[in-house]
Amino acid sequence: MVKRELLQTQFQGVVCKRGHSGIRYMSNRSCVECVKEFNRKRSSTIAGRRYQANWKRENPQTQAEWLAVNRERRMLSVARHRAKKKNTPFSITLEDICIPEICPVFNTPLDWEGKRDDRPSLDRVVSGLGYIKGNVRVISGRANRLKNNMTKSDVLRLLAYIEEGT
Ligand SMILES: [Zn+2]
Repeated sequence: MVKRELLQTQFQGVVCKRGHSGIRYMSNRSCVECVKEFNRKRSSTIAGRRYQANWKRENPQTQAEWLAVNRERRMLSVARHRAKKKNTPFSITLEDICIPEICPVFNTPLDWEGKRDDRPSLDRVVSGLGYIKGNVRVISGRANRLKNNMTKSDVLRLLAYIEEGT
């Protein structure tokens, strides 16, 4: 799958003319840091931002490809954003995000393209502790939603109610 590699990066050893580390895009060998700097500069003007929005609209597959190879990165950045907004502790890094094939709660397959319930979702094991090392796990959207909507005593009451009826 050549297409998937479009935005993949690789250490290619050659330092760029601005002295960056040598991590380059595999597709066109341009320096990742230089491209980032260029985009950062561009997004500082209204015309630049308009150009970027247009480009995104005309190249929707590129973003999809980036997502396909960078699921964990995406998950991390969404979590960082949420933590900032809600003022929750955040100290995890990419290696703390490990996406399994199967939901550890319900044993159902996790599916990025599937229904919301089946999509992988980052859980804070003890939600009050925030996104800190040892406190995050990837579970299904369904498990995460149920967990967030119920306290332990809610679960026990619900279970008791269900068992009464059987
Ligand atoms: Zn560079």
